[in-house]
Amino acid sequence: MERRNFIKKATLTGVGLAVGTSLSRCTDVKNQSNQQQNLTKGPTAICTWRFTKANAVAGKALMQGKSALDAAIEGVQVEEDNLKNTTVGKGGAPDRDGNVTLDACVMNPKGDCGAVACVENITHVAALARKVMEETPHVMLAGKGAEDFAYSQGFKKEELLTQSSKSAWQTWKKSSKYNPIINIENHDTIGMLTLDEKGDIAGACSTSGLSYKMRGRVGDSPIIGAGLFIDNQVGGAVATGMGEEVLKTVGSFLIVELMRNGKTPQEACEEAIARIVNKNQQYKAFQIAYIAMDKQGNTGAYCIHEGFTYMKYQNGENIAISPDYYYHPKS
Ligand code: ASP
Repeated sequence: MERRNFIKKATLTGVGLAVGTSLSRCTDVKNQSNQQQNLTKGPTAICTWRFTKANAVAGKALMQGKSALDAAIEGVQVEEDNLKNTTVGKGGAPDRDGNVTLDACVMNPKGDCGAVACVENITHVAALARKVMEETPHVMLAGKGAEDFAYSQGFKKEELLTQSSKSAWQTWKKSSKYNPIINIENHDTIGMLTLDEKGDIAGACSTSGLSYKMRGRVGDSPIIGAGLFIDNQVGGAVATGMGEEVLKTVGSFLIVELMRNGKTPQEACEEAIARIVNKNQQYKAFQIAYIAMDKQGNTGAYCIHEGFTYMKYQNGENIAISPDYYYHPKS
């Protein structure tokens, strides 16, 4: 990656707070980690995209002394219940045949994990992934088996296709070609990383996947190591965006391993994006973003295109951060 060619940009925005800076890339990363080292870090929650409420719910749960995993699942559920969010939970966009199928995974500080893929009729799939982790000898359940397991655990059967998602799908069906819009149509997976007051890290990831995907398609989000990875000795990482590309590079595991080997969360996210763009000439056509956090509560993020934001709750403050990005078209 040609770091010198990057347009240098970092923005921090929060409620009542807006700070914009233009710094060189290297200075930017160095300053960021210096600032972070000086912070008194307490319980911390970060999540993909501008899911302000979800992140605040997780952050406040951590402040009340809840465990990292409890807080992550509580936070993610805010979006699973949000009917206006068309890429997570109830209200998610359907596949091309009109079925809403959800994917999720969770990972706890002990390194245990649970996942569900291609599940229909269940809203709280991150909580279901936790049940797979805690109540079965398996890591992942898919399709009808996952759905039946949900009922056995007391989850309700629910209609996930809302009228507005149905109308949008019907309009899509009439169009001749599927051409997703970067950052808008199909990239709103909620991935959350939480650091609790004991210093333990956990994570959760929940999505309806790409809008109008093929029936049965599963992306990165429920795949441990791709969509999410936690190592409680090192930190965690989570992905959003074109899942096929994250799967090919096992992106979240890669980031945690890079941090283990001394990279900051920011540097590790940049390297993981570099692995993708260096291998795939088509990278201008899709978005991928990673967020990462280490054991001290230092965080980082990087993405291919402008337009990605992540939320960070720390020291009682919930701020939106727009990280730098790889691809800068010449104007
Ligand atoms: N990563 C998700 C998937 O490929 C999509 C997204 O983040 O919106 O299923």
